[in-house]
Amino acid sequence: MLPSRWQAFSSSIFSKMSQMAAAHQAVNLAQGFPDFDGPDVIKEAAIAAIRGAFNQYAPSTGLGELRRQLAQRQAAQYGLQYDFATEVTVFSGATEAIFCCMMGLCGPGDEVLTFEPFFDCYPAACAMAGAVLKTVPLKAPDWSFAIEDLRNAITERTRVLILNSPHNPSGKVFTRHELLSLAQLVQEKNLIVVTDEVYEELIFTPARHLPMARLDGMRDRTITISSTAKTFSLTGWKVGFAFAEKKLTELIRIPHQYTVFCSATPLQAGMIAAFQLGQEYFLDFRELYTRRRDTLLAILRRHGFVCKAPEGTYFITADYRSIRDVPDMEFATWLTEKVGVACLPISNFYLDAAAASANLRLVRFAFCKQIETLEAAGRLLQERLPEALAALKN
Ligand code: PMP
Repeated sequence: MLPSRWQAFSSSIFSKMSQMAAAHQAVNLAQGFPDFDGPDVIKEAAIAAIRGAFNQYAPSTGLGELRRQLAQRQAAQYGLQYDFATEVTVFSGATEAIFCCMMGLCGPGDEVLTFEPFFDCYPAACAMAGAVLKTVPLKAPDWSFAIEDLRNAITERTRVLILNSPHNPSGKVFTRHELLSLAQLVQEKNLIVVTDEVYEELIFTPARHLPMARLDGMRDRTITISSTAKTFSLTGWKVGFAFAEKKLTELIRIPHQYTVFCSATPLQAGMIAAFQLGQEYFLDFRELYTRRRDTLLAILRRHGFVCKAPEGTYFITADYRSIRDVPDMEFATWLTEKVGVACLPISNFYLDAAAASANLRLVRFAFCKQIETLEAAGRLLQERLPEALAALKN
């Protein structure tokens, strides 16, 4: 019997769909990890660190040199100043940072707000802290929201707003106008904002990433979380980080200290090389991802999916209604088994998955894959989709 706070959680949909993809030798566009590795210079730096003297515990807050680089980058990129000693912390991935925020900021019965659909670790992080997650809808197909919905959801117990931009799974990048309306509300209601900016470098022209901490009055009430996972295509290293004003930083360092204590030392050392990469790396990165996005968009549209080009992230959310009008889990399972292309049902990104499944006809495809992988998915759709549809009629 699971303790009550965990009863709503079963095995993750990411693992489930990846296992299904493997069992059917399907092209796995379900889980968001690249099928290629990040730059060799980063790997070499980590290997050198293992051969050198970087194999014992790092400081709990992260290697000083890495934190110094992170602070420099945040200043250069966004004009945000943080003291690397007291305001920058390295975590074992953005996931751990999010958990530490919930444990550091919330107590039992406190409420946390976020937009729905949401990345799946948010409810679990709230449950671990004994906090209650409440959601406000982003409405498909343009993923807009009503600020009044948010205002109405705030109670005496609300402590935190979790904001994810660029947003998984929708691909939405919150505009300055939207962020301003959120900033005004959270200041009025005295909330802390935890921003999940792990896709900050995965942004497509003309969209621009604006960290919430940049807005007037927001630096000292925002914890900005990001990760090296997506930016350097090394998702398995789990090196994430957070920027926050000194007192907020103290709060999130406590759970970190008593859970993982520190992130893997040589991988942190490797990431020092990552932040020394020049602008060309980031330009190439965006250009390659624009090609991947456009390749997958063309394939999906050719086969009857209706999808908007995402403004950020490496996900396309596709409406499959014109192919089959069935719930998303049934569609995703069928596509994996009969066509050989795995995708993710969107209903798992909602608190009430059953209601979302009944109302939405959306699945998410990841394009953090080599062009050949995406083209292989295109060929499978071309060859097998008509047959699979015909078989349903027999
Ligand atoms: N936030 C979002 C929105 C994500 O999509 C992911 C990864 N899928 C994470 C956080 C987790 O990042 P990390 O691997 O650094 O823990």
